[in-house]
Amino acid sequence: ERLCLDGRVAYVTGGGQGIGRAFAHALGEAGAKVAVVDLVLARAEAVACELSLKGIKSLALAADVSKPEDVQRMVDAIVARWGTVHIACNNAGINLNSASEETSLEEWDKTFNVNLRGLFLCCQAAGRIMLNQGYGKIINTASMASLIVPHPQKQLAYNASKAGVVKLTQTLGTEWIDRGVKVNCISPGIVDTPLIRSRELRPLVQRWLATIPAGRLAQPTDLQAAVVYLASEASDYMTGHNLVIEGGQSLW
Ligand code: NAD
Repeated sequence: ERLCLDGRVAYVTGGGQGIGRAFAHALGEAGAKVAVVDLVLARAEAVACELSLKGIKSLALAADVSKPEDVQRMVDAIVARWGTVHIACNNAGINLNSASEETSLEEWDKTFNVNLRGLFLCCQAAGRIMLNQGYGKIINTASMASLIVPHPQKQLAYNASKAGVVKLTQTLGTEWIDRGVKVNCISPGIVDTPLIRSRELRPLVQRWLATIPAGRLAQPTDLQAAVVYLASEASDYMTGHNLVIEGGQSLW
């Protein structure tokens, strides 16, 4: 019952596939109305459609989380439709891959713009509404790479940006808790999504598999209960926390 999200308004960025899609389904099944937000509108629409078929109230929105005007438009559209935002799932992220000595400034900036600037913009825009109403749950997607350097590396910008996500989460989580806004993050290990099936990452995955005590990659469904927990009142005493779900990989 304390995990029930009836009457809550949520959004999920990067909700059009992978982990974000699984988050959108989980929040919706727990009772929340869900705005599915993605850079690619068709992806957001497809997931919103899946939710509607389950009887979940949903909304599809296009936004590039690295653009302040897009983020404001996203929040305004949700407020226009459902009156407020209670649960902000800031999940959109990219993972480019290059040897550190060859990482271009463009790649560095792109990674930080989506993974960290995007989070700052979303946390601020949604946070203002939450602080006003004295209630909110922000759940950011970090990564196990915020804790360890997964082997083999070639993820300089990604790893650094995800470490930044954890510190952003800790700072906001402590700053806003006395005004009713809890900010936590989830750090998945290696999750079987379109992201890791990319041409650059595919060769690394086989090698990573050998480093996971659980003996398999995570499925997006392995993360669903965590997002519902962090979105619900059951986790009200938790803030600034990095919930690591990685099949034991960070311990080996
Ligand atoms: P994915 O690439 O499968 O899906 C990400 C979605 O985000 C896509 O639909 C994409 O269109 C959207 N997106 C990309 N840039 C965007 C932007 N600027 N604005 C809005 N939407 C944007 O990725 P995934 O594997 O589901 O990863 C989701 C999150 O989880 C990311 O933050 C990623 O870093 C993190 N993560 C993934 C893994 C993994 O192994 N897959 C592990 C740890 C953390």
